[in-house]
Amino acid sequence: MSNWPFGSPRLVGGPPHSDRIATCGFVMKKGIAVSPGVAVGTAYCMLEIYVDPDRKRLADREVTAELARFETARDAVAQDLRALRKKVEHQLGPSEAAIFGVHEAMLRDSAFTGKVRSWITNDRFPVAAALQRLLQEYTRLFSETGDAYLQERISDLRDVVIRLSDRLSDVVNTEQPAMLGPIIIVADELLPSHVVALDEVNVIGIATQQGSQTSHAAIIARSRGIPAVSGVEHLLRQVKTGDTVVVDGRDGIVTVNPDPEALSAYLKLEREFVHLKDELAANRDLPARTADNQALQLLANVNGPLDVPAATNMGAAGIGLYRTEYLYLTHPDIPSEDEQLATYQRIIESAPGTSITIRTLDIGGDKTVPYLGHQHQEANPFMGWRSIRLSFEHPEFFLTQVRAILRAAHFAESIGKQARILFPMITNLEEMRRVRGMVGRAGRQLQNERLAYRTVPIGMMLEVPAAAVSIRMLLSSVDFVSIGSNDLVQYLMAADRDNPKVSHLCQPLSPPVLMVLRDVIQACREAGKPVTLCGELAGQPRGFVVLLGMGLTSFSMSPAFIPSIKELASHLTTKKAAEILERAMHLTTTAQIKRYLSRQVAEVAPNLSLLDLA
Ligand code: PEP
Ligand code: MG
Repeated sequence: MSNWPFGSPRLVGGPPHSDRIATCGFVMKKGIAVSPGVAVGTAYCMLEIYVDPDRKRLADREVTAELARFETARDAVAQDLRALRKKVEHQLGPSEAAIFGVHEAMLRDSAFTGKVRSWITNDRFPVAAALQRLLQEYTRLFSETGDAYLQERISDLRDVVIRLSDRLSDVVNTEQPAMLGPIIIVADELLPSHVVALDEVNVIGIATQQGSQTSHAAIIARSRGIPAVSGVEHLLRQVKTGDTVVVDGRDGIVTVNPDPEALSAYLKLEREFVHLKDELAANRDLPARTADNQALQLLANVNGPLDVPAATNMGAAGIGLYRTEYLYLTHPDIPSEDEQLATYQRIIESAPGTSITIRTLDIGGDKTVPYLGHQHQEANPFMGWRSIRLSFEHPEFFLTQVRAILRAAHFAESIGKQARILFPMITNLEEMRRVRGMVGRAGRQLQNERLAYRTVPIGMMLEVPAAAVSIRMLLSSVDFVSIGSNDLVQYLMAADRDNPKVSHLCQPLSPPVLMVLRDVIQACREAGKPVTLCGELAGQPRGFVVLLGMGLTSFSMSPAFIPSIKELASHLTTKKAAEILERAMHLTTTAQIKRYLSRQVAEVAPNLSLLDLA
């Protein structure tokens, strides 16, 4: 077995290439641009399992041997999972490793193994076919229940089945990715175990059938600076391992086996992209300043300890947003206070700079954690029981998290750093008062228990239009503000941030969004409250220019974007940015604004257009 951690490739047949966007001898498919840049490499298809539709049935005499193959594969996968769990536990801690324990438990589950054995014995299915049937049956059953917990388990089951079929595969040793050089991962979606393994191989691009700009794969790709395109329908039918694939993460296009002319054009772009990245990374130790010497704070968004090295390497001045939900999403139950504390301490210890902003659980919408009561699907999950609303209904778990953060703040102080606490999706003043009460209560408890803690600055995420409109009322109850433009835009425009059908409306560079952002930033500055913007807009060249024009000086973004924003800032004066903003605010459509800003960015820093999303 190779040490390739993704499972082996399998080729899939399929209908003719009906959904290609161009037929010039090669396939070009349109998806959603989720991580900028261009990559040309060899495809490595992470397919589920391939079973010939006309699969043969086993002869009687083959049954025993097939059962033995299954058991051997099962033992081997259990061993792999244990090793993976140990490794991740060592690198990242028990919380991140827990998911592999869940997978091992599935593998041992008697309902799971009983079914597979029965299909092999009674229906004469080869084990690969039995596994495929299992996956299909459970996917259908779990989807029909409408139960969020069970639906979440489908991707875990798929992960386990892929590992098993990998172990059963005969082709595993013949297609070692190590021999393939730089790899473009082509997958239906990125699974938890794939993401952990990304660092071990030379992945230079990602293309997935599922997903959107805010999905797990997109966030991971951006945090590693890997060009990626998601939401490409039927991609796996048109690519096989070994094909040459181009991922154009600016325009959201995946090209399979381009002709020599297209290939050479893309290779040129890729070289420019890699060169630009290297050139920009060399600036990482330079101070972040505008051309007229205005100091800027360029911070990193991280989702867990794995992202922190990238934040350091890219020259982040601190962590502006630590999304703690990933700790919960990869955990089979509520992580204990000590587990949380250990993870927060690890992040604080390794973080660049001195300031770390920890956001409390922002779950709900598209991210559900079944053990917190997401048993039934809501009609409007993004407008429903998510984020701080859910935390309020679980005071026991909420308090545990706040306590862990206050204790982590004490640790931060002991090593000369400062932690801040940030509450997501605040809608009104009552909520701010309630969270302040919660922080006070956590502090009193810790004091009574003689556990070391520190009081911390308390901030709100500004992502609900109601809070934006009433920002001047809210400011007296907060120590700082962090603008979550991803959510603010979707709520302001009433356009789901994950739905490609309304992506033309979910546009941060639209007139109403700019009006609201300008007003909020102005209100914070007038009140003397520190304000940061931590949505995707902060890391996009056009977004950065208008935000700087609004007077913003603190930005938090995927680490990979920091060098380019630093470079852009160094060519721009605050006066010029204000002038560009002023002109942009006189334009009346999003398309006009985007075109105008693209021209301005191209003038200020021509090489950076490679790094903007379309
Ligand atoms: C945002 O909404 O802009 C934000 C930063 O939070 P998230 O993307 O985690 O919802
Ligand atoms: Mg948000």
